[in-house]
Amino acid sequence: MFSNDQKSAIEAARAAWTPTRRLVVPALEEAMYEPVSVLDTGFVRLVDYMGGDDGIVQGARVSYGKGTKSTSDDRGLIRYLMRNRHTSPFELAVIKLHVRAPIFVTRQWFRHRTASINEYSARYSVLEKEFYFPRPEDIAVQSASNKQGRGTTLPPEQAQQVLDLLRDDAARCYDHYLDLLNEDAAGGTVDPTRPSIARELARMNLPVNIMTQFYWQINLWNLLHFLRLRADSHAQYEIRAYADAILGLVEKWVPLTFGAFRDYMRDATLLSGPALRVLRAVMAGTPVDPKAEGLSRREITELATLFPEIAPRLNGG
Ligand SMILES: Cc1cc2nc3c(=O)[nH]c(=O)nc-3n(C[C@H](O)[C@H](O)[C@H](O)COP(=O)(O)OP(=O)(O)OC[C@H]3O[C@@H](n4cnc5c(N)ncnc54)[C@H](O)[C@@H]3O)c2cc1C
Repeated sequence: MFSNDQKSAIEAARAAWTPTRRLVVPALEEAMYEPVSVLDTGFVRLVDYMGGDDGIVQGARVSYGKGTKSTSDDRGLIRYLMRNRHTSPFELAVIKLHVRAPIFVTRQWFRHRTASINEYSARYSVLEKEFYFPRPEDIAVQSASNKQGRGTTLPPEQAQQVLDLLRDDAARCYDHYLDLLNEDAAGGTVDPTRPSIARELARMNLPVNIMTQFYWQINLWNLLHFLRLRADSHAQYEIRAYADAILGLVEKWVPLTFGAFRDYMRDATLLSGPALRVLRAVMAGTPVDPKAEGLSRREITELATLFPEIAPRLNGG
């Protein structure tokens, strides 16, 4: 996945140590610069960070020194901040990642506007011949129940047919890309009898499973928002794979915040006013008509899925 030059650069970066007065997180220092593999040829690599659980607490208390009282006080404070969506102390922590991902994944990724991005320029440089090909077990039919998702996995021989087509198209498009560029590694012309066009034009026939790279800097609160949406079962598998890898880094970086995020955002749910009224009535054993309370049929189904024990009561039982 990496050239020898790239491997040496990563090793050299990992070997260097800089004395600092900043608050550092030992577990994240250990993860620094090391690529975490995602999909077949993608990765996420931590390149910098600022702050951690200590810094969040320090910011929340607006303290002069390290600001730490005790771990249990810090945990309680962080969980209080998360529960009450007091977001600004989390915004003080920042992370910078180097990511390699297929272009169709970055189309979804870059919808998250609250980050700073710099992407590899295919106007300036020639793209590498690196494509994403799903594993056979990830190739599935269109979902019947979710218009935005996939359903059952294809039988192995059909998955192989799909992969053959994908590989064939990728190879052909990349060969044509090189033909259109008509340039050698030193930037000279390969065949003077054929046209050569600009890199910004030649790239237009490349498929969206070609890999791109970018640096991504985002504050912790916006990162948690990204992770809540993209590490969720409703997100496409491919971007979820990246979100899961980033979750692993977040757990090392801010373990207390990660626990609060898991409990109050990722595994939590939002209940509407009418849903709460219905739940209270069910718990009190008083008759209640969810429709009369304003819940739609879909909301009733969602509530019944969340609380299967009371499903019969929600459906008029
Ligand atoms: C499962 C799933 C399916 C999706 N399907 C589609 C789809 O079919 N089509 C499609 O186009 N997109 C789709 N999206 C993308 C989605 O609509 C959002 O654009 C994307 O998730 C980014 O979310 P965000 O705007 O909250 O994030 P960010 O851009 O990071 O913004 C974070 C928060 O900042 C605030 N904010 C940022 N910019 C503004 C602004 N200009 N004005 C007001 N508030 C702002 C908002 O509170 C926002 O929630 C989908 C996303 C998911 C997770």
